Order: sequence, then structure tokens, then C-alpha cells
Amino acid sequence: KLRRHQGGENGNNKNENKHVDDHDHPEEERKKAQEQQRKNAGPIQVHAPKEINPNAPGELGKPVVIDKDKLSPEERVKYDEGWKNNAFNNYVSDMISIHRSLPDIRDPACKAVKWHDPLPTTSVIVIFHNEAWSVLLRTIHSVLDRSDIKLLKEIIVVDDYSDFEHLKEPLQSYIDKLERVRLVRTAKREGLIRARLKGAAVATGEVLVFLDSHCETAEGWLEPLIDPIARNPNVSTVPLIEIIDDNTFQMYSTPIESIQVGGFDWSLIFDWHPVPRNEMERRKHKTDPIRSPTMAGGLFAINRNYFELLGSYDPGMDIWGGENLEISFKVWMCGGELVCTPCSHVGHIFRKRSPYKWPSNVNVVRKNTVRLAEVWLDEYKNYYYERLQNDLGNYGDVSERKALRERLQCKSFGWYLKNVYPEQFIPGESLFYGEVSALLFYLPFIHFYFYHIDESSTDFESAI
Ligand code: UDP
Ligand code: MN
Repeated sequence: KLRRHQGGENGNNKNENKHVDDHDHPEEERKKAQEQQRKNAGPIQVHAPKEINPNAPGELGKPVVIDKDKLSPEERVKYDEGWKNNAFNNYVSDMISIHRSLPDIRDPACKAVKWHDPLPTTSVIVIFHNEAWSVLLRTIHSVLDRSDIKLLKEIIVVDDYSDFEHLKEPLQSYIDKLERVRLVRTAKREGLIRARLKGAAVATGEVLVFLDSHCETAEGWLEPLIDPIARNPNVSTVPLIEIIDDNTFQMYSTPIESIQVGGFDWSLIFDWHPVPRNEMERRKHKTDPIRSPTMAGGLFAINRNYFELLGSYDPGMDIWGGENLEISFKVWMCGGELVCTPCSHVGHIFRKRSPYKWPSNVNVVRKNTVRLAEVWLDEYKNYYYERLQNDLGNYGDVSERKALRERLQCKSFGWYLKNVYPEQFIPGESLFYGEVSALLFYLPFIHFYFYHIDESSTDFESAI
């Protein structure tokens, strides 16, 4: 507005007309704005989404399909480099607006839910190591564009010692212009666990929401994610993690009926499984949170004080892996609850390989996972160790983590398996359980045979 006014004074005809227009129809403009606001009827957002061109590539989460063989040689180099450096199609990402629109993929029932009032304030923590420019900024803008200003206290972006040039000064000056966004950097490569801890240490919101640096939050994502935490601060939540295709950047959506929850196998690798029947029956409404034995790890929310009380993450874990099961077991065993919130959708680019450098001298995933098993698994750790052929490697000192578990008076892993994850296959007990359940199954027949066979007819089948 100010600029238009100045333009008018400078005698620029076109601008002068606009300036006159502004004064001629202020009332009309105000009405229009009010009407627009009523129409949107949504929360006021930190940075209102820019006007979108519905025909631009990737809008509404649509796929962008490139025939790489038709690209010019220079473009083809960019295309191949994009894949090589990021393990996703960065050439396509660069074609898509960093403010791209997404379809509203919530179940209609979600819009009728009344969320807890008040809801807590949130710090979103986005950590990255060598992330692509457009992918990182789309993550940040999706949060800014689709979160209620009252709930979003800040976004803390943590650079885990990247060396991509665009993440140095260019990123700093871009972020400096954004309201509510801060950039902090680690002094050496720390890995995702300690990078998140660095973000958490400076966060001031009541709730922490952790996101990977290649995500897109969908319409209405935040309220359902923090609602269960407002009701009970010992609950940690995960959104419905949607696939963003690594090649076309299409955003998929999961119907509320086909949600899966997290589990693990005895190599202590996270996996997904359908919601068990008893959990389906426990919930009254399809929008109710779903209990999940574990979380995938990249995207979740937790009350900041509760995260601290639980001893946050194990700072002895490096680079990647294990931390998701550690926080999952800990939440359940130490008096909390982990749930998936069916109305909160967040997209994540799933990659087929890891694009960044890993330490070559040590198996970090094994190290992290052994730390987790030593502290939290009790005698069940042996199922994992058998799979490692008891080659545990050097996993450092876990005495502080054991003391933490002691201090928090957490329940046993046996309790967790029985109460939280009864579907889990337990190798050593499978034979035993197999025999018991077979016995339970045959017992009525055996009973029938011995007590009724003599006195009833000789026709055993018809007697049954
Ligand atoms: N990350 C990090 N430092 C590392 C490794 C990973 O900050 O040493 C970040 C990475 O940029 C991403 C998050 O941690 O935002 C999770 O890593 P990734 O996406 O590779 O894991 P995945 O989702 O494939 O399990
Ligand atoms: Mn990821």
C-alpha cells in the first residue's frame, strides 16, 4: 500500500490510478477482504499462502512426470545430479512451488471434531544434514502456511554440519527474513539424535514437534496432533505419515480406515502393521487417536517438559537409528502413551537409499540399537543378540541410561509386550504358547469326549 502511494506521488500514471482507486473504493475493498476471511473461516496463518496457479507443476500434490531422455544435455546433468546428491528427484522438486497447495486429505469427520481449548503452543524442530534447497524450504513453508499463528510459537531449523553451499549464507539470509523461524547449527556432525536435542534445548513452546527436512504438512495438521497432549501431557503423538513420491513428488493420502501402527521385529527394526482388533474396539470414533506400540521416529510431537523428564534421547546414539524405538519403549514403560492421530496428515519423502555420508569405521545402527536393548529390553535383549551372533561391538557406557530407567521407576519390557504389544511374536515362547493354545482349543472336546461319550449315543458327530 505504501509503495503504491509513493508511486502516485512520483507521478507514475498507472500507479496514480491505482492510488485513486484505493481511495475511491476503500469500503468495497474492506468488504471484499471480510468476505474472503469469512470464506476461509480458518485460523490466521503466519505467512498467508501466496496466490497459486492451479496449473503450475505439482499443485494440489499432483505428480510431475519428466521424460529424462527428452531433456537437453545440460538439463540432464542437473537431473542426474539431483538424484545423486539427494536420493530423490530434486530436478522435479525445483520445478514445484515451495508454497505448493495440497488437497485437503482429512476425513470429513475430522472437521467436525472439537479440539481441546486451549491448545498448547508449539515449537517445530526441523533438523537436516545436506538437504535440498526447495525441499527444505517447502518443509518450512508448509508449516508456516498451514499452522495457526496462535499455536505455532516458532520453527527451529537445525543444520547438522552440512557442506552444501546453499545451506550456508544463502539459507541464513533467507531465514532471517522469515518471522518465527530460527536457524541453529551444530559445530560438528552430530547425527539426527543430538541435532534434535540441540533444537529441543533452545525451544520455548509447550509442545515439541519434530519433523524431517523433507516433509509437507497438510491442511489442519497441527490441532489433532497436539490435542491429545493438551488432554494428557504424558502422551506422545505421531501424525499419519503420507508418502511423497521420491520421483514425481506426488503426495498420497491414506484413508482413515487403512491406518497402520508401528511395531518392530527382533532385529529391532521398525515395521508397520494393521490396527489390532481390540484397539479398533476400544476406540469410540474413527477420529480417536490410535495406540501404537512404536513410532517411525522422524515425525512426532511430545510435551517439552515430559520429553525432558523422560531423559529426552540417549545422547550416546550417533547419526541415525534406534532412537525411535528407545523413545517408544520409554514412553510406554514409564507411564505415558504413544498414539497415532488419524486427522493429522504430514507427507514425507521416503528414499530408497541414504544420500549422505556415514562413518565408515563403526556400525552406528548396531551401536545405537545395542544401547537401546541393553537399557530397555531386559532378558528379551537376547533375541536381538542372537541375531547379531552376540557380536555387540563397542556400544559405550549405558550406566546413566540405566540409572534413568531406575529413577523413573519404569515397568519391565515383559509388561510392555504383554500390555502394549500382545500381537508381537516372541521366538522363545512360540512353542510354549503354541502348545498351550492347542491345549485350550482341544480341552472342550476332550472334556466332552470323556464325560459324554459313554452316556450319549454312539453317534459322536451328531452329539456335537
Ligand atoms: N539427519 C541429520 N544428521 C544426520 C543424519 C540425518 O540431521 O547425520 C537428518 C536428515 O536430514 C533428516 C532426518 O535427520 O531430516 C532423518 O534422516 P533421514 O531422512 O535420512 O531418515 P529416514 O527418514 O530415511 O529414516
Ligand atoms: Mn526422512
